[in-house]
Amino acid sequence: MTMIGDDLQQVKNRIAKACAAEGRSASEVRLLAVSKTFGPEAVRAAFEAGQRAFGENYVQEGLEKIEALADLRDQLEWHCIGPLQSNKTRPVAANFDWVHSVDRLKIAERLSDQRPAGLPPLQVCLQVNVDGGANKSGVPPEEALALARAVAALPHLTLRGLMAIPEPAPDFAAQREVCLRARAVFDQIRAAGIALDTLSLGMSGDLEAAVSAGSTMVRIGTAIFGAR
Ligand SMILES: *Cc1c(COP(=O)(O)O)cnc(C)c1O
Repeated sequence: MTMIGDDLQQVKNRIAKACAAEGRSASEVRLLAVSKTFGPEAVRAAFEAGQRAFGENYVQEGLEKIEALADLRDQLEWHCIGPLQSNKTRPVAANFDWVHSVDRLKIAERLSDQRPAGLPPLQVCLQVNVDGGANKSGVPPEEALALARAVAALPHLTLRGLMAIPEPAPDFAAQREVCLRARAVFDQIRAAGIALDTLSLGMSGDLEAAVSAGSTMVRIGTAIFGAR
């Protein structure tokens, strides 16, 4: 197996172990391979090792990789996970399958309007700012439900869930505490009758805490592709 194949397997083992510790089934947590800064050949190697879902932070870089891997387009799922400016929504709506970083209605409306006819609805998560940092992207938790209602009503989007990027925390307990804030918002929106199935939470350094808090999709870069 390639090195990427070995690293993918180790990440899957971590997910399985973290799920087992919570009495969860490993099939409840999807693995998104974050390929930002790595070239199309790294994505191809991960594909050959069985990985199908890939996350990109930077729109232009993602578009170039999607183009370079056009021969695999039908078999890959491309997720946009980085901050999204309104002047970049059109190519994202046309080329990605998922967007995790919707944090205001204007962006969601543009993505819905610009989703090409003939493609399935764009799958979206709302990014929630669970740290309260004023300069971080993400909708404040207290505004998430209203945004979820508005986004769920847009015709060419399917609202799937929430995404959060907690600040690095020193240990498992602290990581889990902040992850649970995202989980609480997720539960609140579901309790209001909006059917979410995705909690996009957890990176290479806090995967176990995120799974413990209820993540259903971990976004892993470094542990698969190496240091950036
Ligand atoms: C880079 C990035 C990741 C992956 O982080 P690693 O620590 O390399 O696993 C996950 N989510 C987002 C939003 C990122 O920008």
